[in-house]
Amino acid sequence: MAGVETAFRATLDTGSGPTIAILCEYDALPAIGHACGHNIIATSGAGAGAALAAVRDKLPGGRIQVIGTPAEEGGGGKIRLIKGGVFQSVDAAMMIHGFDRWILHQDLLGITRASFEFRGKAAHASADPWEGVNALDAVIQTFNNVSMLRQQMRPDARIHGIVTNGGAAPNIIPEFASAMFYVRSINLDYMWELQRKVIACAEGAAKSTGCTVKVIAYNDTVYEPMKRNEALIGAYRANLTSLGVVEAPPLVDRLGSSDVGNVSQVIPTIQPLMKIAPDNTPIHSRAFEAAAVSPLARTGTLTAAKAMAMTTLDLLTDPALVKRAQDEFKRTK
Ligand SMILES: [Zn+2]
Ligand SMILES: [Zn+2]
Repeated sequence: MAGVETAFRATLDTGSGPTIAILCEYDALPAIGHACGHNIIATSGAGAGAALAAVRDKLPGGRIQVIGTPAEEGGGGKIRLIKGGVFQSVDAAMMIHGFDRWILHQDLLGITRASFEFRGKAAHASADPWEGVNALDAVIQTFNNVSMLRQQMRPDARIHGIVTNGGAAPNIIPEFASAMFYVRSINLDYMWELQRKVIACAEGAAKSTGCTVKVIAYNDTVYEPMKRNEALIGAYRANLTSLGVVEAPPLVDRLGSSDVGNVSQVIPTIQPLMKIAPDNTPIHSRAFEAAAVSPLARTGTLTAAKAMAMTTLDLLTDPALVKRAQDEFKRTK
């Protein structure tokens, strides 16, 4: 769908009325599997859709769409689906994400990526080191420059990178080395400013080591911050509370990014977090990977699926709620 091979859309059409989307993610992480718990995002979204399908004859008019949105972890699947028009006729969207506590709204940081490919000159690292130009030094210098930049950074921004190529063998001065960085901020203007500074860090490193640098900026897959929608949050909260869930206090510092942020910038959208792991379990960790298949995850998935089905039903039953969500969306930034 929309050029995304493993995307899907299941539609339940019961006549004229609003179109409500329930989003499923199902991609995993390299090396640490389902340490973001997307298995339970997919299961709860499909579960909500199945519950509504089971009572389709009693549903008010409208369309319920369960949309499979793969490639969240870096691939920008939802960005491609937005560009492909998949959300064009959708009035409101929701999905849940696993976490270590129940939270109704968590801000998301805008994120962009940049890679740097340094080229130097190979030489024997012991016999002829002065003949070499060390591309790995340029990578290390880039990391050091970024570390210094980090001290001057606003607290709601993040820069983090990995070395993607560090040379072939210790006895060869590396002629090629590369690194990739993510740059994040709650504010898109500041994110671009930081990206320019990170690029300058790499260019400075190239100059000081005598290497050349190729900058590859992935500016077409920028994840945008999450736009808050109180009308939808309120509806979801009422359902979650009726299921016996006690909401945790808001968290200000554990900030990530997701392409659902982009969806929230085009239609009213929520992504509440559900508890699938013991308190203080970091996500993208081995502990969270284990939690994603635990009994706690099973309980959380069922509860979140019920709350999404109930919220979808609220939206179909009460067109004024859809209008409130859309009016708020137009009003807020
Ligand atoms: Zn993740
Ligand atoms: Zn995730």
